Amino acid sequence: MRSDDLTQILKDTFGYTTFRPFQSQIIDSVLDGKDTLGIMPTGGGKSLCYQIPALYLDGITLVISPLISLMQDQVMNLKETGVKAVFLNSSLSPEQTKRAKGQIRDGKVKLVYVSPEGILASHLGEFFASVKVSLIAIDEAHCVSQWGHEFRKDYTRLGELKLRFPGVPMIALTATADAKTRADIAHQLRLEAPNIFVSSFDRPNIKYLVADRTDELRQLDQFIRDFHPEDTGIVYCLSRDKVERVAQALRKAGHPAVPYHAGLGSDVRTKNQKRFNEDDRIIVVATVAFGMGIDRPDVRFVAHLDLPKSIEGYYQETGRAGRDGKASTAWMVYGLQDVVKLSQMIETSEADESYKIIARQKLDRMLALCETAECRRSFLLDYFGEGSTSKCDYCDTCLDPPVLWDATKDAQMILSTIFRTQQTYGPAHVIDVLRGSKSARITEKGHDQLSVYGIGKEKPKEHWDGVLRQLLNANYVAIKSWEYRNLCLTPKAGEILRGEAVLRLRKQEFGASKKRRKEFSGGESLTHAPLFSSLKELRTRLARDRGVPPYVVFSDKSLLSMCELVPTSASEFLNVHGVGQSKLETYGEQFLSAIRAHAP
Ligand code: ADP
Ligand code: ZN
Repeated sequence: MRSDDLTQILKDTFGYTTFRPFQSQIIDSVLDGKDTLGIMPTGGGKSLCYQIPALYLDGITLVISPLISLMQDQVMNLKETGVKAVFLNSSLSPEQTKRAKGQIRDGKVKLVYVSPEGILASHLGEFFASVKVSLIAIDEAHCVSQWGHEFRKDYTRLGELKLRFPGVPMIALTATADAKTRADIAHQLRLEAPNIFVSSFDRPNIKYLVADRTDELRQLDQFIRDFHPEDTGIVYCLSRDKVERVAQALRKAGHPAVPYHAGLGSDVRTKNQKRFNEDDRIIVVATVAFGMGIDRPDVRFVAHLDLPKSIEGYYQETGRAGRDGKASTAWMVYGLQDVVKLSQMIETSEADESYKIIARQKLDRMLALCETAECRRSFLLDYFGEGSTSKCDYCDTCLDPPVLWDATKDAQMILSTIFRTQQTYGPAHVIDVLRGSKSARITEKGHDQLSVYGIGKEKPKEHWDGVLRQLLNANYVAIKSWEYRNLCLTPKAGEILRGEAVLRLRKQEFGASKKRRKEFSGGESLTHAPLFSSLKELRTRLARDRGVPPYVVFSDKSLLSMCELVPTSASEFLNVHGVGQSKLETYGEQFLSAIRAHAP
């Protein structure tokens, strides 16, 4: 039966025992000859959805991929599992291209990776007309849509493929969830009555943590030390400047960190990208320029030092953690500054009003995610249109429910100070007055004579920042002019000033408590530590010899699986997660003897 054959391929070639949600439905749809659109979150296992049909079908499968680095990565991974795959792109010499074409013509290849412009170029078009193409796969299919956030002009002509390869089924895959983009992909690619599969966007292995920003560099260092002292991660910042600063600070604190942003020379970027792919432990501090093409499965944390502009962005960036399904963390700090800065960027941008309206709404939802006292995961899944249970037990608000306190009196103090200073000053000035600052800025204006001067001096600046931020987000305070960032009261503020409304806010935590840290770190048991680390060493050595990244040899998950199963024979080694025939032949011997060396 077909399904048995497919399960056999999954095990023999890829070393996995069961399909992930929607993989087998998608594969069935493709093998029934239907056009198919598959939407799965990052790490959901999209590649197998066309790789397994490619192995099952006669002829070749064309895979259209937007980046040379992605193609190289995929082909390298496939070769390790014993699958014959090649790519054709501008990085090949004429000699190499000729050789690859020869292999395709001789039927030695199952998968051919090509760029969009490559497949539409006339010489390749002619070439592929002369071989049997059984399936066309479009990877990162959202690039075809203007609605998507990574639109690429060279993707727009892919609709022509349907005309050039009539009758060949097409599968399009993406992690972009929203319905508009989805419909547009099907339209642009001229998919014929496609089967559409949308898998859940939940990433159960990712823990979501959001903290108030106090001293972000110290907080980041502490977070890494507490939760991920040995791990690889990505730290996102808004500006190139800050990227450099943070990378430097992390290095100074003893972490292996490198910067990545579009302003660096291409040689530096290539070098740092390579370190990210190959080093056992590396932290890349980056702007959002570091994104597409990140295939490393064992990124254990993604940290945001600045608030993303939308939940889509946040979810995509955090989604780069834990593609291998192991416990990972999405950690973010945010504060009053983010609210002010991002709002200002929208309001002072040249964009038209309709764009601004959307941008404001997206930022609003992003802020609401930060301020929520409810489960973060439910909030995210709701946003993507998935009803969900109300508690996940794997985010900060579930693990450590925020304490609400009566903030009415403190809110009155802030509102009065804004009022007494004529609603003409920004957050810093207002809080300085409130806290009785002796700076000349305050005394020159005579603000040290006001009745509100110093009424909030018992509490730290961070406290007042936090209350003001929540007042802004709850629309009691607004920013009057974007040029000067000065604050004013909204009509709603009157309710609090007159004592008609009670305001309950989330208690701010300045530095996570010990208890909290322990609860959050949880993690894997390290009973296998000695064996695990010697397997890791072996992996690094073999990877270096073969010139591939360590995770291409085996994932951490495979190594852990070896520690748990302690296989002693070739047949037992085949039970290890991610071990198929090819990996058994290439590596079985060496790993088995390393495991034997550790036997009690
Ligand atoms: P995506 O392209 O959707 O982000 P990938 O195709 O790169 O995800 O798959 C992510 C990881 O999950 C890879 O390491 C892949 O080998 C692994 N994987 C895919 N399908 C399965 C499965 N059925 N069982 C176990 N692991 C799988
Ligand atoms: Zn939760």
